[in-house]
Order: sequence, then structure tokens, then C-alpha cells
Amino acid sequence: MTRTAGFFFHFYQPPREDPWLGLVANEWSAWPSHDWNERITSECYRAMVAVSLASDGDDEAGLFEPLAESSFDVGPTLHHWLECNAADVDRSLRHQARHVADAPSLVALAAPMVHAILPLARSEDRARLVAWGIADYVARFHERPRGMWLPETAVDLDTLEVLAARGIEYTVLMAGQAVRVRDDDGEWREVDATTLDTSRPYRVVLSEGRSMTVVFGHRELSQRVAFGDLIADGTALADAMVQELPPGDDGLVLLVADGETYGHHHRFGDLGVAWALRRLQRHFAVTTSLGEWLRGRPVTSEVELATASSWSCAHGVERWRSDCGCTTGSSPGWHQGWRRPLRDSLDWLRDELGASLVDELAVLVASVDDTLEDYGQVLAGAASAEEFVTAHAKSPRAADVSSRVLELCEVYRNLLLSFTSCAWFFADPAEIETSIVLRYAAVAIGLARRSWGLDLEAEFVTRLSAVESNRAGVDGAVLWGRVHDHTRHDALSVAAGFAAETLAGGGAARTVRGYWRCSLVGPHAGDAEDVRRVDVTHALTLRRTQVQTRAFRAGTLGLRVAARVGDDDAWTDVRLADLGADVVALTATSWLVSAGSLDYERAIEMLVAELLTRPASDDDAVALVAIASVQRWVSPSGEASIRRALFALASDPALDARALLAPLARAVGLDVLGSSGDPSAVQ
Ligand SMILES: [Zn+2]
Repeated sequence: MTRTAGFFFHFYQPPREDPWLGLVANEWSAWPSHDWNERITSECYRAMVAVSLASDGDDEAGLFEPLAESSFDVGPTLHHWLECNAADVDRSLRHQARHVADAPSLVALAAPMVHAILPLARSEDRARLVAWGIADYVARFHERPRGMWLPETAVDLDTLEVLAARGIEYTVLMAGQAVRVRDDDGEWREVDATTLDTSRPYRVVLSEGRSMTVVFGHRELSQRVAFGDLIADGTALADAMVQELPPGDDGLVLLVADGETYGHHHRFGDLGVAWALRRLQRHFAVTTSLGEWLRGRPVTSEVELATASSWSCAHGVERWRSDCGCTTGSSPGWHQGWRRPLRDSLDWLRDELGASLVDELAVLVASVDDTLEDYGQVLAGAASAEEFVTAHAKSPRAADVSSRVLELCEVYRNLLLSFTSCAWFFADPAEIETSIVLRYAAVAIGLARRSWGLDLEAEFVTRLSAVESNRAGVDGAVLWGRVHDHTRHDALSVAAGFAAETLAGGGAARTVRGYWRCSLVGPHAGDAEDVRRVDVTHALTLRRTQVQTRAFRAGTLGLRVAARVGDDDAWTDVRLADLGADVVALTATSWLVSAGSLDYERAIEMLVAELLTRPASDDDAVALVAIASVQRWVSPSGEASIRRALFALASDPALDARALLAPLARAVGLDVLGSSGDPSAVQ
């Protein structure tokens, strides 16, 4: 008999990548970090893989690994970002998952590919989200998962059936999600969040003799950690957990919370949890992973769940489709009546586009179901796009077939991403989380239009206009317009960016930029001398486009680029601001410091020096904002240089691009432009 205390960490962030480019754009609100993924990585993820603990008298001070003593899941979209942008954290996560018996499936749980509310998903989507999540897990941990985390712990019986059919053995829910329990051959007893015995596992009986094991988190303790201040004192936390251990039993007390609670939502929460774990191990109980605790343990009690239910809506899963009253960040008088039309619009789009893409795909592949399910192997990196097409297409070598098949799969992936649950979670649709899902919808609509000529945009926007923000004059159509305003990258703008970087010289031009691959190809007979031909390939769809570009410098930092595809097409002028901050920063830095330099802080110092010798221009503003926005971290002296450059630019009353500077000015706490960026506000 062993008393066990455990922590479960759910690590997740909404996907922030620009879905056209595959890179995360700068987020000024995360300053001085580049974006919230980076900020939360430094505050939480990197902190949680190795906590530096002081001595508590019994032991030396040293590094402690909380994850190796617990259980966790990492949302696949977040894990992919960590793999590409925080390889040290990814390595530690995968290493610590092997702490118990060298078996990651005893420590790490899988999660569906997209953080969607599974009970609200179409049944085939639900099955693919689970299958893709398992494929992602197997590719990362080299073992099949035993447990799966459900986004928002949103559950119903159909969802559990899907999990069980895919070999998942258990999931984690919160105490309030149980309605009735019974022991073997016993009577059913009604339970609630306070009367459910969460110290033992339960089983949910499913069809065809299958069942799903459920472990419940201790609701009161979990809430005191997530929303109270219990995490501020590791000793008090450990003692509170011990209080809840059933005496003389082999029961469990499990604390379940978002991983970001530790270090991000609660500063130094990483220290609190590590200290609590060490104290528990020393003095009171075994701490271990869920998989280890469940291994060989008979599950004798049965549970009936409230379905559908979740851990952050008292009304089931209404929070993700109606004005149920549950919200975060609301103001007096606000409503969430926008949730219903947002979901209805996206459901409509998914059904229309989904039916059409199945018809299109059926012409090209042997089995639509197998193809869409197997696309998870490509997303997980377990199969190449070429292998995938060869395995499924009826005539894989026919011209254009590869790209058509992959584009259809991408339309489907973007549709699924447009159901990312965060879009409905908060108080108003004018927030970034809702824009994120609209961007995925825009990618799906745009790809369908280009790939097989189906244009659903007008009707989708009509439906979306029923979405009403709490901010005056903002409805779904306005929100859609904002998605449009955001630069939508395509082969033309990517080729223009590559031409600009090539012009900057010194080998600065990147041949790989997010989802895109670029290379220069030789001139054709009759090409003008300043024309550069760029071969552009979209890595996800293998679609290749040859683009003609002309790029030349104008002034110290100015740059003019034009591009076209066909010899008879008109040239399109690509605005500096539409090239992307990463391109402008790279070219401007090359010109200010030296060819191919990535010394952004030095570049801003040089810009300040430039501005002392000549009048400022809009290009200076674009360059300053771009250089400041691509930095991964800004030193105090770099920030001082940015302030000097802002002062120099703000003192020029003729500058048109003043509004562009406003977010940067706000980020560095400088009121030089006034709160609105209005020139008249400048002193
Ligand atoms: Zn609710």
C-alpha cells in the first residue's frame, strides 16, 4: 500500500504561426520577447524542465526535474513549435518522459492534433484529430501512447469510443465531471465534485466490450493552484496534498492544471511545484507518473460521466458555442452571443468545403478516408509528402497530381485548425484568438479557390457578419477584413522577398523561409537585364511557381520590388511593408551594418546615426519597426537605441508612417507619439 501524490501538467498554447508563411509574427504585447510562445517558453517551459532548488537542510542544493516526477501532455502544435524554436526544451521533455522504466507512455500523454472541443466536432473529424495526435506522439516518443488528454477535458461517450477504438487506455478528467459511481456489482451512487472519491481510478463502460479508464483530478486543490495562491508556498502545497491523501490506503491525490500555471500565470510557480514534489518524496508519499500508478492496478469501480462536460464550463461544452455565462476577461454589460454564429459559420464552411474536397479527392486517390487519416503521418514527419502521394494517388506521376492531393489535404487541415477552442473561450471575438481561427478559414477558402475553383468567401462572410463584438462597430465582416489586411503571403510576395534579400547581398538571402523554398534560376532569352527569376516551392503542397522579379534600392533604406508570374502579366509592385518584417529587417540590417549581418541592435544604432544626418522617411519607419520586431530579445542598450530612433522619427511632422510606429512606442513605454499615433499628439 503506497500513498501517491501526483501532478499533471497540460502544456498548450494557441498556434501562433502565420498560416500563409509558417512563421510566428512579432507580437508587441510580448515585448521584450518576440512573441508569446518565446515569452512563455522562458517563463515556464524552459523553467519547468530544470528547476534550481535551494537546500532545505536535508540535502544539497541542485537541479530538480519536476516533469520526470509527474505526468504531462504537450499539445502537438505547441510541441512542433518547441521542436523548431526551443530544441533544448523539446529534448528535455522527451528525455524526462523516459524517467519511468524508459517508457514515455507511462509519463507523457498524447493529445488530439488540434485543440478542438471533440464532442462538438464532426465524427470523422474527431477520429482524424485523434489519429493525427497519436501519429504525432509516436513520431516524437517512439512508442504508442497509453493515455490521451482531451482539450478542456471536454468529453462525451462518442469521444471515448474513438479513443478506445484507437487503443487509448485512459484519460484525465476533473472531479465535477462524474455523475454516478458504483463498485463491482454494487448500487449506483450519485456523486458531485465534493463527494467523488478521486483517490482511485474508474472505468467507463463502452460498446463492444471496451472500456476507458478515467483518473480524476482533485478539483479544490487544482483550483487553488490555478486560480488561488497555493503555488506561492511549496511547503503549504505539499502539506495540503498530504491532508487529502486517504489514510492507510493506496490512493492518489492528483493535481491537474495547465502547465503554464507554473512560471507564467504564477511567477516562480516552477519553484513552488519542485519544492512541493521534493517535500512529498522526502516525508510523506511516493510521487509518480499516472501511467506508473495505473500499471497493474485493477479498476474495480465504474463511473457515469456528465456528457458532454468539460473542466472550464459549468454547462457542459456550451462555452464553445453559446452565451452560457462562462467567460474570461469580460467587462460589465458584455455578452458572448457571438459564439453561436461563429461556430455556425465555421460548421457551415467545414461542411460545404469538406463535402467538395471529398468529391475532388475521390477522383485522385484510391481511398479518401485512408488518405485523410494517413496525412497525419506527413504532419508528424513520419512520412514525406512524396511517399504519401505515391502510397495513395491513383496515378501519382501524372502532372499536377501531387500538388492537388496535398492541397486538398491542406484545405482539410486548415479547416480542422479553424476549430481551435481558444477562439470561443474569451470574452470577445475581437481578440487575437478568434483572428487565429479566421486566418485558418481564410487559408482553406483561398486554397479551394485556387486549387479547384470553389469560392465560398462571399457566403461565409455573410454568415460571419452575424458575429457581433462588444466593441462598437465591429462585426464578423470587420474581423474578416482585418484578416485580409494582414499580409497574405503567396508565391509572388515570397519571391519578391527573396529578390530583396538577394539584392542585400552577402549571401543574406534565405533559401528556406517558413513553408517556402526559393532559388534563383537562370535568365530566359529576352529577359531584361534587371529581371531575376525565382523558383518558389511551397513545402506543404509541393506547388512550384516560377516568378520574375525586379528589385532595386531607393535611398538609404528604401527598396522597390515588382514581381509577375507570366511573361505577359503586368508587374505587381510589392510594398515594403508587405514583404514581411523578417525580410525588411534582414535587408535593412545588411545595408546599415554589413552584408549578411544579423546584428539588429547595431543596425538600430546605425539608423539613429543616419537620422542625425538627413530627414527621416517612411522607409526609415518601416525599417525601424521591422528590425525591432525580429529581435529575439532586446538588451537595455538596444532598447535605448530604439527609443532614440523613435524620438528622431517622431520629431518629423511630415512622416506618413507614424501609425506604424505606435505599437513599438507602446512596447517600449514611450508616449512620444501619443496613445493613438496621432501626429497632433506629439509635443
Ligand atoms: Zn458555461
